[in-house]
Amino acid sequence: MQNKLKELIQHLRQDGIKDSAVLKAIEKVDRKNFIPKEYEKEAYADYPIDVGYGATISQPYTVAFMLQALELKKGDKVLEIGTASGWNAALISVIVGKTGNVFTTEIIPELAKRAKEKLKDYKNIKVILADGSQGLKEYSPFNKIIVTAACPEVPNTLVDQLKQDGILIAPVGLPTGQQMIKIIKAKKIIKENLGEFVFVPLRGKYGFT
Ligand code: SAH
Repeated sequence: MQNKLKELIQHLRQDGIKDSAVLKAIEKVDRKNFIPKEYEKEAYADYPIDVGYGATISQPYTVAFMLQALELKKGDKVLEIGTASGWNAALISVIVGKTGNVFTTEIIPELAKRAKEKLKDYKNIKVILADGSQGLKEYSPFNKIIVTAACPEVPNTLVDQLKQDGILIAPVGLPTGQQMIKIIKAKKIIKENLGEFVFVPLRGKYGFT
């Protein structure tokens, strides 16, 4: 493993990422392959990087934090809103394994096209050009849903597309800052606030614009 990647993993561990499947996936799915060439040297730095069209590849800590909170299991069927670089989708694909599935939606055609090409060897991922704020009814219900863009409010349409005991993670709040909300669809809906983060705004029907 490259030194910089080793350092990143160590730093994620120190910051409370304990899920070994998440850490292993970050080791395996090279972030360098999902960012523009000019930023290659920064691939293992713990910050977001511009990937064009107003999108960023999220900060590694944020991705690890969300994936850990999602409690991913082998065989899970997962919906992601906001494909952008495709890195997060690739990580989920590795964690849920061959028996699992990842449906990832992107609203910007150029980004969806690029991610489709980049992820073509990941047989359990489907990249879909769509307004993910409405979910993906035709493929629902899902075990897990992860929203990687800022939502103006808790996305109830997405909660409806969760299986019983499913989990949704989404940053909710203003375009300038959000609270990371975890929803567990138990007999009663359980809602937790996991702290503050900043994402690019969700667009579409239930987004900001
Ligand atoms: N998960 C990404 C980072 C997401 S950045 C990664 O691993 O790189 C947020 C992305 O959400 C942007 O690409 C943006 O275009 C997309 N987005 C915004 N609104 C959306 C919507 N309604 N449906 C699908 N994608 C959306």
